[in-house]
Amino acid sequence: MKNLYQLTATELRDAFAKGEVTASAIANHYLERIRRYDKELGAFLEVLEPRMLLKAEALDKKRAAGKPLGKLAAVPIAIKDNMHIAGEMTTCASRFLKNYRAPFDATAVRLLEEQDALLIGKTNLDEFAMGSSTENSAYFPTKNPWNLHCTPGGSSGGSAAAVAARLAPISTGSDTGGSIRQPASFCGIVGFKPTYGRVSRYGLVAFGSSLDQIGPMAYSVKDIALSMEAMGHPCPHDATCLDFPPESYLLSRDLKDVKLGIPTRFLEKLQPEIQKNFLKSIDLFRSLGAKTVEVNLDLLQHAVAVYYILSSAEASTNLARFDGIRYGIRAQKAKTLEEIYEASRREGFGREVKKRIMLGTYVLSAGFQDAYYKKAQKVRARMIEAFEIAYESCDAIILPSTPTGAFALSSIQDPIAMYLQDIYTIPANLAGLPAISVPSGFDLRNLPLGIQIIGPQMCDAAVVRYAYAFEQASQCIRMPPLFTESGSAP
Ligand code: GLN
Repeated sequence: MKNLYQLTATELRDAFAKGEVTASAIANHYLERIRRYDKELGAFLEVLEPRMLLKAEALDKKRAAGKPLGKLAAVPIAIKDNMHIAGEMTTCASRFLKNYRAPFDATAVRLLEEQDALLIGKTNLDEFAMGSSTENSAYFPTKNPWNLHCTPGGSSGGSAAAVAARLAPISTGSDTGGSIRQPASFCGIVGFKPTYGRVSRYGLVAFGSSLDQIGPMAYSVKDIALSMEAMGHPCPHDATCLDFPPESYLLSRDLKDVKLGIPTRFLEKLQPEIQKNFLKSIDLFRSLGAKTVEVNLDLLQHAVAVYYILSSAEASTNLARFDGIRYGIRAQKAKTLEEIYEASRREGFGREVKKRIMLGTYVLSAGFQDAYYKKAQKVRARMIEAFEIAYESCDAIILPSTPTGAFALSSIQDPIAMYLQDIYTIPANLAGLPAISVPSGFDLRNLPLGIQIIGPQMCDAAVVRYAYAFEQASQCIRMPPLFTESGSAP
């Protein structure tokens, strides 16, 4: 029999349902792994040990009583620390919220718990989800389980590292410009950003409200499908949440009759290693029966510029509520109201967050609104059209997930170079499209690479199905040796 941490979420749930293992044994196994490995890795900001053990005990009783079990029964799930779990801390990895306790559950979290998942802890992120390396956390950086000198990507770096190191079989991420898919790719796991509105944003601390989307991270596509069946429900608390019942995610290994679009000109400047991996992945899709066609998405070369204008504008308004009065910390020495606002924000926010607030305020200011914010909105609308035209000739679009493999900690100091990390993930956010990153191999340093499949709006199940076929044929999912029982502990 495999070790518990080697089982997928689906296998764990089945083993529990059949009575082969108790929920308490599963909980203890994963808690023990966190104790053993997380000091080095830094994936968790908080571990919810007592809560998890209580829930596991209750589940064992539920099973013994023969009551029906949820789809995620006894599956440990790690939650990114910008999503609320009622009664627990939500810090967003910011000093500003170091004392903030969530008064209610995020809808996505509630839906997971309703399916009998075990919430195992809150994971590290770039402060307020702004970044691509998890180095912007106010607490500590998370490391990449494949190489502890490298970043796991970001901003959902804690969630990606936790799953890759098998400290939880599933985690949640939020993706505004790539924060689920880029870290999934760097850590060799699967990460899915659903269609905008498929998963409720209620209880997710807002960054860029027109772009933010919650999604699952896991080491198998089947587990992504399982999580989506649980999380993808309508929600009355989020006006942008789609009013459709959850899709059923039927998986198949066959890609016959599937047409994949490749924006060749947009991909002209790929790094040789990424290019090689990308071409190999296309061959694999073809060997499964898919046809490929060229599509024109040249406009996407402006995606990074458009994204940083719009996401910063939205962030500057969303973060205005953190003023030292309503939420989080309050500067102690300040006397007047004005001083409280100013000093609380100066002390509470980190550098990157301040930068985004200033940029956002600038592009929204009276003199520059037309030149930046409004223009970016227009280009965004043109991009949505370009995707619509592309989908007239194909079912999904294929892109690399990232322009490089995982980079070394502290190695990117230039903000523009960091922003360019998201060049291939941002377009799906701007157009609200479902997009998944699946492991597609390794670079010369033996670090994971990922391929991205982007579908038309609402075609979440199709995207997951193509990813499943790719995953089954490519077999590139491996475990980072440092975190297997036989490998030497770091
Ligand atoms: N890296 C991007 C940014 O810094 C995306 C972040 C995200 O998706 N939350 O804005």
